[in-house]
Amino acid sequence: MSSALANQIAAGEVIQRPASVVKELVENSVDAGSDKISINIKDAGRSLIQVIDNGCGMSEKDALKSFERHATSKIYKTDDLFCIYTKGFRGEALASIASVAEVELKTRQENDQMGTQVVFSGGEFISQSPVNTPKGSNFSVKSLFFNVPARRKFLKADSTEFQHIINEFQRIALTHPTIDFSLYHNGQTVFSLPKVSLKQRIISLCGKNLNSDLIPVEIDTSIVKITGFTGKPQAAKKRNDKQYFFVNNRFMKNAYFNKAVLLAYEKLILPDTAPPYFLYFEVDPHTIDVNVHPTKTEINFENASDIFKLLQAGIRETLNKSDVAPAIDFENVEAVDLPYFSSKSEMPEMPKENFNPFYNPFNSTTRSFQETDKREKNNLENWQKLYSEDSLLTVSDEKMPVAVERKFLQIKEKYIVSPVKSGLMFINQFRAHFRVLYHKYLLEIDSNADGIQSLLYPETLSLEAQEVAMLYDLRDEFLAVGFDFNFDNFKSPVLKGIPPYLDKDRSMDVILDILGCYKQEYGNIQSSIKDILAKSLSRNEAIKAGRKLSEKEMETLIDSLFATKEPNYSPDGKPTIVVVPIEEIEKKFL
Ligand code: ADP
Ligand code: MG
Repeated sequence: MSSALANQIAAGEVIQRPASVVKELVENSVDAGSDKISINIKDAGRSLIQVIDNGCGMSEKDALKSFERHATSKIYKTDDLFCIYTKGFRGEALASIASVAEVELKTRQENDQMGTQVVFSGGEFISQSPVNTPKGSNFSVKSLFFNVPARRKFLKADSTEFQHIINEFQRIALTHPTIDFSLYHNGQTVFSLPKVSLKQRIISLCGKNLNSDLIPVEIDTSIVKITGFTGKPQAAKKRNDKQYFFVNNRFMKNAYFNKAVLLAYEKLILPDTAPPYFLYFEVDPHTIDVNVHPTKTEINFENASDIFKLLQAGIRETLNKSDVAPAIDFENVEAVDLPYFSSKSEMPEMPKENFNPFYNPFNSTTRSFQETDKREKNNLENWQKLYSEDSLLTVSDEKMPVAVERKFLQIKEKYIVSPVKSGLMFINQFRAHFRVLYHKYLLEIDSNADGIQSLLYPETLSLEAQEVAMLYDLRDEFLAVGFDFNFDNFKSPVLKGIPPYLDKDRSMDVILDILGCYKQEYGNIQSSIKDILAKSLSRNEAIKAGRKLSEKEMETLIDSLFATKEPNYSPDGKPTIVVVPIEEIEKKFL
């Protein structure tokens, strides 16, 4: 087998797409001790990938040798394979790249007068000649996969391939803040990153809004040292992609450690959200198994379960020490979102016998909900939960705002304001009521699981074909919450029964609302029909902004809010409560 062919086969493993070339070249530049690296891409790497560095460069002889397989200058004995600190470790990246593209290298070492230029194409040596070039190396990779049509065809759209390049670029840039990196695509600057601190680097790569959201992490133990940053709870988002682990300064994916971090945030963030984090592990290289495959990012740890515990506890402690609380974000107000009643000495009165936190005090036509023992019990449990270990409300006890007195003021017919020890608490009346009613309806739906109020006059629905199909697919779930349909005439299904607590007049709107939400949230396994139904009913019924409230109403609303499990958020995840700290107010007087 010719060496060109062997290289081409090896290339199949190492070089899967343009991003692989970028990764290998940039890692080499980092290893060469550069402090400035520029990357110039054309057509997502199809026509050009150029990496220019100011590192140590290569001699005439080494420049040629670097394209040989196992050319590496980095492995001396096999044992070293397990102790890799540098990036590359197989000594075949350049050989592989050269076998599937046209590669031109210009390089010069500091003390050499002249540099050297080497050209390879499809694995064949083309030429070498002296050249005038700055200190460092300048690789140009053109016509990638020109001789491997299958590979070329396999490439995705430019936007996808370029996104892969960005991912690789970010992973490297995040581990080397002291290197000046720039990335250009088709002549446009994509990133220009001067040497900075790690935090600055993170912010310039991942967004300015992280600036106030990062907490430094420092976990130092005998088996692992973990540094970097983790996000304040308020920075948590659905599908957070700003999550990075590095081990010995090498990017890794690790679902297991991700779980540890998420556990540390338990009760501080909504269950289906995740915080950003940038965590750098340092371990004895003998205790990890860096999969020798160069494109793999999974790494096995000898002490994985110990590290898991250290990580979880360490992040939790970091959060506790820093001034965070279950977090929310309220436009421009520096917000700490904290429960109202906190210290055990100032416990609110237990609800009286007839206290019903689910009673809607604002609706004069409030339907009377069948009181069930179950609900009474739930109600009590919720109040107890308020003070139990696993309540959101008991997190970081000392920092909770403590009610000064039960004084409530309504402003803009939108917010309820109340003084607390640490400042001024604002409650969004609509969102608070939305939360209270949602909670009520969830219980209501459960306790009426098999109750259906049959309609005296079944109603024929006029729906679009797509809606009928959806309704048919969901018929069992609809039935489970009390909606009974007859599909005899598939074109126009008939509504035969509705949940007992629902007004007949509202039922059509609710069904349409559910179908609408379902369309929108389709594919999101989190939302069940039950959940959507509860949201729909409560959103509709909740008092809106513009509704004037009496002192008594405000008081009841707030008590009811804090009797729910997640008083800090409305059911659609928006903050309900904001505390403006007294320091903020004092600042304004300066
Ligand atoms: P590896 O990085 O695994 O050693 P590569 O095929 O990526 O293997 O590179 C081969 C060798 O070429 C490296 O060991 C290094 O000596 C040399 N080399 C590659 N890129 C550079 C560079 N940008 N600056 C200096 N030397 C380089
Ligand atoms: Mg390499």
